[in-house]
Amino acid sequence: MKRFSGLLTGVNGFLIQLLCMAFVLSGCGSSSEPVRIQGRAIGTTYSVIAYGLPKNISAEDLHKGVEQVVAEVNSVMSLFKYDSELSRFNAYRKNDWFSVSKELAGVVHTAKAVNQITEGAFDITVAPLVNLWGFGPDKRPEIIPTEAEIKEAQANVGSDKIEVRLDPPALKKLKPGITLDLAAIAKGYCVDAVSNWLKNRGISSFMVEIGGEIRTAGTKPGNLPWRIAVEKPVSMERSVQALISLSGKAMATSGDYRNYYEIDGKRYSHIIDPGTGRPISHTLVSVSVVDETCTRADAFATGLTVLGPEKGIALAKECNLSAFFIVKTPDGLSEIATGDFPQHEKMN
Ligand code: ADP
Ligand code: MG
Repeated sequence: MKRFSGLLTGVNGFLIQLLCMAFVLSGCGSSSEPVRIQGRAIGTTYSVIAYGLPKNISAEDLHKGVEQVVAEVNSVMSLFKYDSELSRFNAYRKNDWFSVSKELAGVVHTAKAVNQITEGAFDITVAPLVNLWGFGPDKRPEIIPTEAEIKEAQANVGSDKIEVRLDPPALKKLKPGITLDLAAIAKGYCVDAVSNWLKNRGISSFMVEIGGEIRTAGTKPGNLPWRIAVEKPVSMERSVQALISLSGKAMATSGDYRNYYEIDGKRYSHIIDPGTGRPISHTLVSVSVVDETCTRADAFATGLTVLGPEKGIALAKECNLSAFFIVKTPDGLSEIATGDFPQHEKMN
């Protein structure tokens, strides 16, 4: 049995390098040099590139401010911290309202909306199944769960079993066994939180990247767009599938090619189809979604990945989502773009 775990870093350390490369490609020799900061965030890494800091903000202030935003998101949404707001809610076994921060209520609200649109494919209540398949915080040696274990876990899955109230912010379990896993949306949320912090400080040209999820604002000096790489979805090699220009928007990518394990030559992905209770198994290997917010982009990227090549592409077309699908074919990889997904340069 082999385990391939880019789990917490996803597509990512590599993407940072790609981003730097993309940055070089589009003219970093300009007169105004950016401030670049990097660090760790919600189990992965972050990187920020910003131009034109106001005079009253130093690079050090920027670093401290971003670290603080990231630490706050972690203390709310991490499953790996036993005392995070999310862990405390998960441990709560009653079915009355549980007060939470407006940030947590907001993310759960968005997650429920994406759950409805994706007809249950994106589901933050999937936590018992994620654990059962060995990808959650209670990691354990990978053994294939039995049908009975899958059924038992599925009994505590379903976004209709969780209620959210925005004001005053609170969550309610309609079944005490419900637990939440925000791994598929928290990185996107954190990108938005950092972006909003930068905007509120008067910074209008930046790129924020956390674990492969990205948001940009403005353009670079010389009116150059931010250029972002979509990684080629193969596990043993790191290369670029496509380069896109992204200004004032977010992009998130989901795929089964970095975080999985193999038993007897069969691949088990960390993305679970709540309908079957099993890891996804189809030819759709990567989905990138461009949206106004990275929270939504992240959730939709995972939801469309679960839906697979036919249903995922059909839903993206129907809902006019800007998405880029990479599908495995007998001859290699094929690409399908939907909605307003930016024109991209093919790299192969
Ligand atoms: P990555 O973390 O690699 O960027 P995703 O954003 O797609 O990828 O999130 C995958 C994670 O989300 C899994 O590791 C698991 O914790 C959780 N997850 C798995 N299946 C689902 C699902 N159907 N809906 C929501 N979250 C999921
Ligand atoms: Mg996601």
